[in-house]
This record gives sequence, C-alpha cells and structure tokens, in this order.
Amino acid sequence: MELTESQVAIRDLYRNYMTNELEPRTPAFESCEESVFPFMKKMIKDLGLDMAADAILKKGRGGEKSEKSEGLDDETAALMRYAETQLIIEISRINPGFQQSFGVSVGLCGGNIVIRGTQEQKEKYAVPLLRGEKVGCWCLTEPGAGSDAFGSMKTSVKRDGDFYVMNGSKTFITNGPDGEIFLVYARNEEDASIQAFIVEREFEGLSTGKPFKKMGMRCSPTSEVFFDNVRIPVSNILGGGNKDRNHVRKSLSRERMGISIMGYAIADRCFEIARDYAKEREQGGQPIANYQLIQERLARMYIDVSNARRIVYGSSASAEGLSALDASAAKLFLAEVGTRVATQAIHILAGYGYMEEYKVERLMRDAMLLELGGGTTEIQILTIARHILAE
Ligand SMILES: Cc1cc2nc3c(=O)[nH]c(=O)nc-3n(C[C@H](O)[C@H](O)[C@H](O)COP(=O)(O)OP(=O)(O)OC[C@H]3O[C@@H](n4cnc5c(N)ncnc54)[C@H](O)[C@@H]3O)c2cc1C
Repeated sequence: MELTESQVAIRDLYRNYMTNELEPRTPAFESCEESVFPFMKKMIKDLGLDMAADAILKKGRGGEKSEKSEGLDDETAALMRYAETQLIIEISRINPGFQQSFGVSVGLCGGNIVIRGTQEQKEKYAVPLLRGEKVGCWCLTEPGAGSDAFGSMKTSVKRDGDFYVMNGSKTFITNGPDGEIFLVYARNEEDASIQAFIVEREFEGLSTGKPFKKMGMRCSPTSEVFFDNVRIPVSNILGGGNKDRNHVRKSLSRERMGISIMGYAIADRCFEIARDYAKEREQGGQPIANYQLIQERLARMYIDVSNARRIVYGSSASAEGLSALDASAAKLFLAEVGTRVATQAIHILAGYGYMEEYKVERLMRDAMLLELGGGTTEIQILTIARHILAE
C-alpha cells in the first residue's frame, strides 16, 4: 500500500512512540509490577489523542456540531480513520494486552457513551475516559451468559422512584479490578428489555473480584463485577432510555473490527521477527532462511499478512465501516491469522521462540484471546451463515 506523506508521518509518530515508550515498560506491565493506566493517560496526552473530549466540551458550550468526523471534509475524515487504525496497529505490534485495556476503556466504554450518551453523560463520563483520567469497563458477559449474552442475561434492574436498582454479576470484565466507570447491560424487570447503564465505582453495592490469572493479555486486568442492590440514577441510562438493540449490535461490529486489526498487527510483527531471525540464525553452516522448509513457512506467513493488510486498510478507508456480516468475516479470518502466524514464528525461532526474550511467545498467547473474545469462532460462523442465507 502506497502511503501519503501525512500517513507516513502518523505511522512514524505512533511507531516511534510505542517503540520508545511502550516497549520498555512492557515487562513491568506483564508482571503486573506496574499498572498500565497511568501510562495510558500519559500516552493520550503525549499523542494528542483527546481531541474528541475537547470537542464534546466545546459542543456543550454551544460550539461545533459534532464530536468526531461529522462535518469534516472527506480527506480529513479519511486521515482520521487511518490514524485510528494505525494507532491500534502500532500498540498491538508491541503489546496487545495494553491495546485490550485501552480499547475497552476509551473505545468500548468511552466510545459508546460518545455515540449513544446524552450531552450530560458525555461531559461527565466520556470526557474523563477519553482523556485517560478514568478507567472504563464494558460489561456484557455473565458467568451463565457468554455466547448467548442477551438470551441468558440474569443481571437485572428494577425501577424505584428516580433510581434503578441493579442486581447480578458480570465476568471476564477487562479493566474490572481498576474500573471507575462501568457500562453495564442489564435486563429491565418491567418489560424484559435490555438497556445499558453507566455505573460508577462509588455507587454502593458495586464490587469487583481479584484479577484473574490468564494465559495471555496479562497486562490487562480482568475480573468479575458484582451488583448488590446498586442504586443507579435514572439519568444514568445510556442515551436516556432508548431501547434500540441495534446500537449493541453496532458496538459489537466495532469491537470485532478492533479485534481484526489487532490480529493483523500481531501477525505483521511476528512475520518480521521470524524473517529477520531466519536470515541471521545459522545451522549446518548457513542461514536457516536458505532451507526450503523454512522458506515455505515464511511464504505462507507472508500470504496471511498481506491478505490481512488489505482487509484492514480496505475497511478503514471506507467511511461506512463494515456490515455486521463482513465484520464477523474479518474478525474470524484475522483472529486466526494472528494465532497462525504467531505459531509459525515460534516454529522458526524454535527454542528461542519459546523464550520470553524473543517476544513471539507472548504475542502468540495474546493472539489466542482474539479467537474467543468479541464472539467465539463458532459465533462468527453462525452470524455469517445467518446473514448469507438471508440474502
Ligand atoms: C481476557 C478476556 C477478556 C474479556 N473481556 C470482556 C469484557 O471486557 N466485557 C465482556 O462483556 N466480556 C469480556 N470477555 C468475555 C468474552 O467475550 C467471552 O468469553 C466470550 O463471549 C465467550 O463466552 P464464554 O467464555 O462464556 O464461552 P461459551 O459461550 O460458554 O462458549 C463455550 C464454547 O461453546 C461454543 N458455543 C456457544 N454457543 C454455541 C452455539 N450456539 N453453537 C455452537 N457453539 C456454541 C463456543 O463457541 C465455545 O466454543 C472477555 C473474555 C476474556 C477471556
């Protein structure tokens, strides 16, 4: 892909930042010696990523009409989409776990409030999330409601005057242990509809479990979240109570696209590491890259990476974004590309690939989540089949 001068400048800015700032901190993040959240705030400030927060406040003061790309000329809007995609790529090439926490706090929690919230909710909750001043969580999954998150949802709310009273629990919640603002999906006992509520850490009755010990994404804390008669002001229903389920589907599609980009980024980095290693590592008096069996692995890795790249940049170039069908198709393919290429990289580095120092073992463990979160492989297959058979 031929990049414009502006695109090269954006890519280099993000790549240099992640190499110089995120990479050296990664061992401390992975061992949980250091929390990722102070760095997240610093990164947002250093890279000027809080423009959407400023636009919300400006609008509140009667300024510009929109928070994001609305009202921008096509070229600027396209460059902003490129920048968003490239940021996810550059973070995920270095540390997908950090992207997991950042994507959930700023994208899924903050972003959903920006898209669906009232002006008051945006100012009170989205602004600190987008600035990295508060940590956000997105709470859909429950112990008994994973793939069937909506059908089996038990967390419920009951109206009591100017409040809703929430009971239930969520699990596998990214950023749960550190969460300060929780976007929680719950069933309304009155009419069984599902609505999203903004819940603050300080609301009495909300508690979180200990961080789970996980296979990968270790710098991104994950826990259960419990609601024991939590009283939530009626004004904290996301968007003021619109019962449109479509926004949840749209936000799932956005999540799937984010995961797809992460899959590509992991594959891209693992391919580079493996190719460079194969050219340097000698066995039998010559670089292992001379052996055709190694060349086949590298060629197949490249095929995955180059096809993945076209999907990622093709969809980021489109103003409409992907349909639900194509978001599922991209998510399934690119998540598998991530694990496949990372596994191939370990084969090429062999014993060294199994060692922490060479990074591919961590990238492979992190990649595995992409096939499970945001809907498992089976759920993507079912979604794809449902759409193609309805056509
Ligand atoms: C590290 C991590 C972070 C996460 N972060 C969040 C978060 O921030 N917020 C959040 O809400 N959730 C989060 N999740 C939850 C994640 O989205 C779920 O784990 C995922 O949706 C799958 O649910 P489950 O684990 O309960 O699996 P289950 O639904 O129990 O699935 C078990 C198996 O059965 C299969 N299966 C289920 N139903 C069907 C069917 N109808 N047909 C065929 N096969 C089926 C599945 O594909 C899978 O293979 C996170 C998970 C992890 C591991």
